[in-house]
Amino acid sequence: AKRAGRNAYAVFSPSMSRSVLEEAQQRVDLERGLEQDQFVVLYQPVVDMTTLRMTGVEALVRWQHPRDGLLGPYRFIATAEANGLIVPLGRWVLREACAQLARWRRATPAAAGLKINVNLSARQFQYAGLVADVAAAIGDAGVPAGSLTLEITESMLMEDVAGAIETLGALRALGVRLAIDDFGTGYSSLNYLKQLPVDIIKIDKTFVDQVDTDADDVALVDAVVGLCRALRLETVAEGIETDGQWLMLRQIGCDHGQGYLFGRPGDAASVTELLDRQPEP
Ligand code: C2E
Ligand code: CA
Ligand code: CA
Ligand code: CA
Repeated sequence: AKRAGRNAYAVFSPSMSRSVLEEAQQRVDLERGLEQDQFVVLYQPVVDMTTLRMTGVEALVRWQHPRDGLLGPYRFIATAEANGLIVPLGRWVLREACAQLARWRRATPAAAGLKINVNLSARQFQYAGLVADVAAAIGDAGVPAGSLTLEITESMLMEDVAGAIETLGALRALGVRLAIDDFGTGYSSLNYLKQLPVDIIKIDKTFVDQVDTDADDVALVDAVVGLCRALRLETVAEGIETDGQWLMLRQIGCDHGQGYLFGRPGDAASVTELLDRQPEP
């Protein structure tokens, strides 16, 4: 009786029933959102640090919610991750991004070398159908595998290093490129960097914020870029907002940059405009 009482209490605790209800509500909302095409993808330029040419874009999802307006990923990715809907949502983003790259490539020769980056969530990375999904997305869109970069985070890799290496290897066998996102914010993966079949390191914004004023951050980023060069990994600095940050990171030798200084996430048409405006390589 006592046990039943405790269970009953747990089930009917007001705070708990509310959060369970909220979660169930957002699940229904997300499912409807997927069915009704309420999600949109914005694209943020990734530029060459020296020439400032846009070499690629990162796909960033938004939810055009019928009641709450345009929602950023922090408002729904965690819930989608928890209830598993991130798998179909992530698949949709991946397919939409590849299809959009194909549209840019058809629209202008300036898009010929353009790369597209797509974020993967932990659940997606563990999903057994991931490699087939990725193969289908590039195949159906008709874009070169090498034009797609998948971004994963350190923590996703560290949970099960052997399993991660296997998945990364299978993805790489398709010809897609792999990037470690938010580098430096997760578990230290320095020991694994050599083993992991990745191509690109994205240096997190937290190291970029004070890189023009803080000697310690300069030393850190300089060390990461040096290490990447030794391991033949490309570097991308994230969240560049000022000329000072750009100049310092360029001097350090970072290959690519991303941030509001070069361009905010925008719709597909804004990328077409940028492509049409930029000089020939
Ligand atoms: P992220 O992958 O690190 O993406 C970069 C985030 O930084 C984006 O926020 C971008 O708008 C923002 N950002 C870029 N440059 C600057 C800058 O100069 N200053 C500042 N303050 N912010 C900048 P966003 O679009 O809100 O996305 C947040 C996070 O949500 C992403 O971080 C990523 O982890 C996740 N996310 C976005 N789209 C997807 C998706 O399709 N699938 C998954 N699994 N996660 C996604
Ligand atoms: Ca990212
Ligand atoms: Ca990032
Ligand atoms: Ca981030």
